[in-house]
Amino acid sequence: METATLTEQDREEFRLLLLSWFRLHARDLPWRQTRDPYRIWVSEVMLQQTRVATVIARYTQFIQRFPSLVSLALAREDEVLTLWSGLGYYRRARMLHSAAQLLVNEHGGSLPHTSQELRRLPGVGDYTAAAIASIARNEAVAAMDGNVERVLMRLLGKSATRRSGLPARLKEVAGLLLDPKVPGTFNQAMMELGATVCLPRAPRCTDCPVEKFCGTKGEHVAAPRKQIVSRLTHYALVKRPVGGESKRTEVLLVQRQDNAAQMPGMWELPAIAEPAKGEPVLRIRHAITNTNFYVEVFEVKADKFLTARNQRKLERHDWVVDSRLGEIPLTGLARKILMRLDVMAKPREVRSGKALPGLDRDFL
Ligand code: SF4
Repeated sequence: METATLTEQDREEFRLLLLSWFRLHARDLPWRQTRDPYRIWVSEVMLQQTRVATVIARYTQFIQRFPSLVSLALAREDEVLTLWSGLGYYRRARMLHSAAQLLVNEHGGSLPHTSQELRRLPGVGDYTAAAIASIARNEAVAAMDGNVERVLMRLLGKSATRRSGLPARLKEVAGLLLDPKVPGTFNQAMMELGATVCLPRAPRCTDCPVEKFCGTKGEHVAAPRKQIVSRLTHYALVKRPVGGESKRTEVLLVQRQDNAAQMPGMWELPAIAEPAKGEPVLRIRHAITNTNFYVEVFEVKADKFLTARNQRKLERHDWVVDSRLGEIPLTGLARKILMRLDVMAKPREVRSGKALPGLDRDFL
């Protein structure tokens, strides 16, 4: 695509091809059923660095519990983190929560109207602001996530992407192509094209609606493969029956430090340096960005585990009854282990075999 010679007619044709394709091929995603800026904001924050399939179930539960900005602002942080469990990158949840509180305390409880104003909120970058403003408010502003950038680079071709000032160039081209009549739908169509057709390693050019405008047709920019690191880790599952008539069980959990670099304040099973005696009760693989954790879980009796030495090491720990596990902010891995071992109830989506990928996959 040579933008210097791109006429208004070309741009109209590009929009028509893309939007017609999107009408036929758009995935049916829950956040596409709404133009409520709050709900679009939640979905955009969840989708940052988390796969769509994982977000679907989490989004629905989150919106059921916090249907409005005010309900989110009034919630306790640990409840927000609990509902975020499984999505990872918990800093996003904290930022979302504090931005909601700021909006309720200082801006009358509604989201600003323009992308420029949205940009001033904690945790809201150019992309998120543009996505919310274009989809919810019809503002003619291009939203550029990683998928859209890749599509634009391929459309422009090799020589254009080698020139200096690439980010500004991409922004300019995104603005030129944007359909000002339906900016929100156009932005979603570009993202969908990048997510489902113009794939990083193997673009499906024969299915691409805008192939005739493409300067590369997938010939270049194969994303370099990330180096994957593997780590073996061990956890202890320590349980005890709850006294009295109850048939319930309590599980020993530890809380990560407030200043921990990752997932501060979240609860998890106690890690153990060495495998315990006997066979593990569970072996799973848990992938976080470029690390594959190969996890072994050993069941250890409470009296053997809670020696005086171990108790000193376990700074913040607590017994949590199984019926309450869904109410506390667990790390994604702890949640996966406890569900897999039937200590924690599985959500309906998993029981019925629907959605929530990431929970029932990756097992060794
Ligand atoms: S033709 Fe291929 S490389 Fe070009 S935009 Fe379409 S899918 Fe991407």
